Amino acid sequence: MKLLALLSLVTLSASAADKIKVLIVDGQNNHDWRKTTPVLKQILEEPGIFSVDVDTAPGGGAVATWSPKFSEYAVVVSNYNGALWSPETQEKFEKFVSEGGGFVSIHAADNSFPEWKAYNEMIGLGGWGGRNEKSGPYMRLRDGKWTMDTTPGAGGSHGAQHEFVMTTRAPEHPIMAGLPAAWMHRQDELYNRLRGPAKNVTVLASAMSPKEKGGSGEEEPLLMAIPYGKGRVFHNALGHGMEAVHCQGFAVTLQRGVEWAATGKVTQKVPADFPDDKASKSRP
Ligand code: ZN
Repeated sequence: MKLLALLSLVTLSASAADKIKVLIVDGQNNHDWRKTTPVLKQILEEPGIFSVDVDTAPGGGAVATWSPKFSEYAVVVSNYNGALWSPETQEKFEKFVSEGGGFVSIHAADNSFPEWKAYNEMIGLGGWGGRNEKSGPYMRLRDGKWTMDTTPGAGGSHGAQHEFVMTTRAPEHPIMAGLPAAWMHRQDELYNRLRGPAKNVTVLASAMSPKEKGGSGEEEPLLMAIPYGKGRVFHNALGHGMEAVHCQGFAVTLQRGVEWAATGKVTQKVPADFPDDKASKSRP
């Protein structure tokens, strides 16, 4: 009995140690992070390959004393849009990613930190916060290729929320391998006119931002992969609210994007019930 108990304990701790360590950061956001963070955590716990902690930053300027232990994790997922982190925390984060850590930016996390150069290089494109042509180009799809558009103008906008079709743009990328060429995403805010350094950005998926919904009339990059030093960034511009984070397409691409950012590989199979381009699907 005792030996069996000991053995099962050893097995348990070994499997826990094998899990990919994920840190979600939140605490400030113009979105309802108190509701969406628990859903992000649940989505990531479902495949059984991640262990997920949350570090909630204090409000306002008190974030200056906040010092998360990035280096104890394989990947950091940000659901944070707020006051600038302290110079020490910024430096620690840059070191974490450039030395091989993963970073995943969710929705308004790409509104954060217009003044932080390295952060903008990591996310490739960002919005709001005074971003404009000085922040970098727009990425525009022309004749099947993503091109840099340096036209002056604001960075970051969105129209009314609606369901929209996501189109795969990099089917060979590990995050996208096995996903359909297009799928219907649940009601979300479709960010448009993001701009930033846009260096080495692989657009994984985009969506048409319709003018009749107050959009740009352009294909907008919404899922992106960006190398930063030895690290990997998965930029996910989706996930405004509860409808969006309860989308099966959102959940599966998040699970795959977090694994890729952490390890450079994706071992998860695409579920048979992944949505097609005709109808969106809620998470089971
Ligand atoms: Zn939003």
